[in-house]
Amino acid sequence: MVTEVLRPSTLDEALALGARPGAAYLGGGTWLNSGRAAGVDILVSLENLGLGRVERRGDALVIGAAVTFQEVREAADAPPAVRAAVSFTASRTLRNMVTVGGELGLLPEDSVLVPVLIALEAEIHLAGAAALTVEELHRRRPGGLITGVVVPDGRRCAVTRLARTTHSPRSLVIAVSLPPSGHGHGRHAPRIVASDCTGLVAVVQRPEELAAAFVPRAGIHASARYKSYMAGLLAADLLASLGSAGERP
Ligand SMILES: Cc1cc2nc3c(=O)[nH]c(=O)nc-3n(C[C@H](O)[C@H](O)[C@H](O)COP(=O)(O)OP(=O)(O)OC[C@H]3O[C@@H](n4cnc5c(N)ncnc54)[C@H](O)[C@@H]3O)c2cc1C
Repeated sequence: MVTEVLRPSTLDEALALGARPGAAYLGGGTWLNSGRAAGVDILVSLENLGLGRVERRGDALVIGAAVTFQEVREAADAPPAVRAAVSFTASRTLRNMVTVGGELGLLPEDSVLVPVLIALEAEIHLAGAAALTVEELHRRRPGGLITGVVVPDGRRCAVTRLARTTHSPRSLVIAVSLPPSGHGHGRHAPRIVASDCTGLVAVVQRPEELAAAFVPRAGIHASARYKSYMAGLLAADLLASLGSAGERP
């Protein structure tokens, strides 16, 4: 049970408080207050740390950890696929609470934002630690205090998801991105990110590679076979739409 809410005014102070036993950084609190976050009795609020801004820095957009999904949706400068990703949280009430830092701190299995940020080669900034890509964050889960996410300009991205209703858990998320100047190799290759919404996230360059790299597990709303079939189809469709018609959220 939460017995204390602390409001540090510097990152150093926040790190020290966050290291206390039973402490958790407080984003929008939708997870922390859902009754499922076991062992948390101290909340370390991020509200006085200046992490609530969306700002341009050179060739990238920096989204602070305390920025809410609704604020991202309204950020005209944010890539359309990032705005689309947060909009898949259909309830405006929830979008007004959920923060980018909370989503990246929790890494929900059916997140739409995480695959989009991986497709866009976004980087996480952590207080007192080296930056890392969202892909590394998802793989290594290093913990720590996320201060923001840096989304580089350039790649065009599109995303879609399978879900029975706008408020149902998602069964599959597919995000694809293309570099500015056509298909190439390495950093200039397409990126296809497939999430089976049970924890598996695969990154490939061509839809046909999904069959080997993405072996989904069944969920309550979709069989493994259905997810596998739809992943290839949706990836090819999104890539075609990006290639022919420019960016499509
Ligand atoms: C009733 C309800 C039930 C839900 N159940 C689930 C569920 O079962 N599974 C699921 O995946 N999602 C669930 N969600 C969705 C989830 O709460 C949100 O999608 C979102 O990930 C949490 O964002 P938040 O800002 O509210 O995070 P919070 O609840 O504030 O925090 C979530 C986690 O991230 C950490 N965190 C917050 N900010 C930072 C930061 N800056 N740096 C590092 N760590 C940070 C917190 O310490 C905590 O561990 C649920 C939402 C609701 C409303």
